[in-house]
Amino acid sequence: MLSCKSSIQARVQVLDFRPIELYDLEIRMGAPEAFTATATVAHHIDGRPVQGAASRAQPVFNPATGSVARQVLLADDADVRAAVHAAQAAFPKWADTPPVRRARVMLRFLELMNQHRDTIAAMITAEHGKVFSDAQGEVTRGIEIVEFACGIPQLLKGDYTEQVSTGIDNWTMRQPLGVVAGITPFNFPCMVPCWMFPVALATGNTFVLKPSPIDPSPSLFMAELLTQAGLPDGVFNVVQGDKVAVDALLASPDVKAVSFVGSTPVAHHIAQEAARQGKRAQALGGAKNHMVVMPDADLDQAVDALVGAAFGSAGERCMAISVAVLVGDAADAIMPRLVERTRALKIKNGMETDAEMGPIVSAAALQRISTYVESGLAQGANLLVDGRSHRVPGFEGGFWLGGTLFDNVTPSMRIYQEEIFGPVLSCVRVPDFAAALELVNTHAFGNGTACFTRDGHVAREFSRRVQAGMVGINVPIPVPMAWHGFGGWKASLFGDTHAYGEEGVRFYTKQKSVMQRWPQSTPKGAEFAMPTSK
Ligand code: NAD
Repeated sequence: MLSCKSSIQARVQVLDFRPIELYDLEIRMGAPEAFTATATVAHHIDGRPVQGAASRAQPVFNPATGSVARQVLLADDADVRAAVHAAQAAFPKWADTPPVRRARVMLRFLELMNQHRDTIAAMITAEHGKVFSDAQGEVTRGIEIVEFACGIPQLLKGDYTEQVSTGIDNWTMRQPLGVVAGITPFNFPCMVPCWMFPVALATGNTFVLKPSPIDPSPSLFMAELLTQAGLPDGVFNVVQGDKVAVDALLASPDVKAVSFVGSTPVAHHIAQEAARQGKRAQALGGAKNHMVVMPDADLDQAVDALVGAAFGSAGERCMAISVAVLVGDAADAIMPRLVERTRALKIKNGMETDAEMGPIVSAAALQRISTYVESGLAQGANLLVDGRSHRVPGFEGGFWLGGTLFDNVTPSMRIYQEEIFGPVLSCVRVPDFAAALELVNTHAFGNGTACFTRDGHVAREFSRRVQAGMVGINVPIPVPMAWHGFGGWKASLFGDTHAYGEEGVRFYTKQKSVMQRWPQSTPKGAEFAMPTSK
C-alpha cells in the first residue's frame, strides 16, 4: 500500500522521468488524492505528446470527490489521421525488426512498468475510483501480458514440413498485419490496453490506442514508458477521444484490424463495421456472470467469493459476479451471511488503506445503477440491502453507492436480464443443478461463470456443459493467465479469437505458406494439372 517504502521510492524515481512534466505527481503518503495532475491529457503521436487540432475536450473527474481533476482532449478526424499516418510510416521498419530485438524493447518496457507500478495504480484510483490495492492488481495483470509478449521469438517460430512432395518443402510463417487499433473501456485503463498492444507490437504491428476518455492518464503514461524503453517513434500512438475518433479509425483504410473491449451494443457495432470495411475484429462485450452455489459447497468460502466478486471494483468488472444462483438449501444458509457482509463493506476513497470498495466511476453511471435498483423493486425482487443512501464523510460530492443485495430475483426481471455494471448482486433461487445450468446457459451473455461445489462430478459436468467462455470451479473470477487468452461467448464476444495468449498472436498476424523447390538441371516441362504429392 501507499505506506510501503518501495512504492515511495518508485514515485521518487518518477520525478526524474519525462512524464512527470505532464503529470506533476504528488507524493503525499495517505493523501486522499495521490495523483493530482491538472495538466490537460493529450494525445501521443509519433513518439511525443501532441495537443492536436481538436477543439473539443471533456472533464476527467475524481469519482471519490466528484470534482473535475483535469481535461482530456477529444480527437477529431485530423488527429486520428496523424496517428494512423505515423503508425503507417513506422510499420515497414518495425515489421522488419527481428522478433528478438522487438522482444528486447518489451523487456525494457517490462522493467519500467514494474518500476512505475504504483504510480500507474495511483492514476487508476484517482480517475476510476477503484481501491489502490485493486488498481495494483490490475497493473500486475497487465504486466503479465508484457511478460508473455517478451517470449515472441518462440511464439513466431512457424512450422515446416520437409519433402511434402519429391524435392519440395513447405513451411508456414506468421507476418504482422500493419497498423492495428485498440479501443478500450473505462473499467481497466491499464490492463485492457495491455491485453492488446504488447502482443500487437511484439508481432511486428504498429498501434493506435483509443482509450476511454473517463480515465485517460494511464494510457498516456504507458506511451511515455514505451518511448523510454526505446520503441521507435510512431510504433505506438494514443488518440484520446470518443465516438468521433472510433469512427475515424474504423473508416481508415490503413487500419487493418480492430481490437475492442466495452459494452455489447458498441462491440456489436464495431464488429459489424469492421467486417464491412474488410478489417479483422475482435470485439469483447458486456457480461452478466453467474456464480452457482451448490448445497455441498464450503459456504464460508462461497460467501467470501460472492462478496469479493460482486462488490470488488464496485462491480465494475466484466468478470464481476452479478448473479448468485443458490441451489436448494444453499439459499437459506447463505442469505443471512450475505446480508451481514454486504452491510459491513468498507466503502471509502480508494486511497484509504482499509477501503474494500471505492466510488462509482461517474454521476451518470450512479444514476443508471440507481434506476436498475428502482426497477428491481418495481418488478417484485426482494431488496435486502439498499446502498442508495450510502455517504462517505469528507467526500460528500463523490459518486457513492453502497453494496446492494436482491433476493428472489427471477429471469423475467430487467435486473436479471441486463448488465447493471455496479455493486448490485441479484440472488436467484433454483431447486437443483440442472435448473442452475439451464439458467446460465439460456442467458444472453456468456463471459465468465463459476460453480462452487465439493462434488467432482458436478464440477466436471458444469465445466463441460456450461455455455460461457471462462469457467471457475471454486474460483469466482476466472480471468485466464496471459498465455491462455481471454474471451466470452454469446453476446460477450463478437469475432473469432480471444484476447492475448496464442489467440492474440494469431489475431495480430496472418499466415503465409511457402512451398519451395530448387530445380535440378534437367527441366521437367510445364505441369497443367493440380499439383499433388508424388
Ligand atoms: P463503452 O462501450 O461505453 O466504451 C468502450 C469504448 O468505446 C470507449 O473507448 C468509448 O469511448 C468507446 N465508445 C463508446 N460509445 C461508442 C460509440 N457509440 N461508438 C464508438 N465508440 C464508442 O464501455 P465502458 O462503459 O467504457 O466499459 C464498460 C463496459 O465494458 C461494460 O459493458 C463491460 O462489461 C465491458 N467490458 C467487457 C470486457 C470483456 O472482456 N468482455 C472487459 C472490460 C469491460
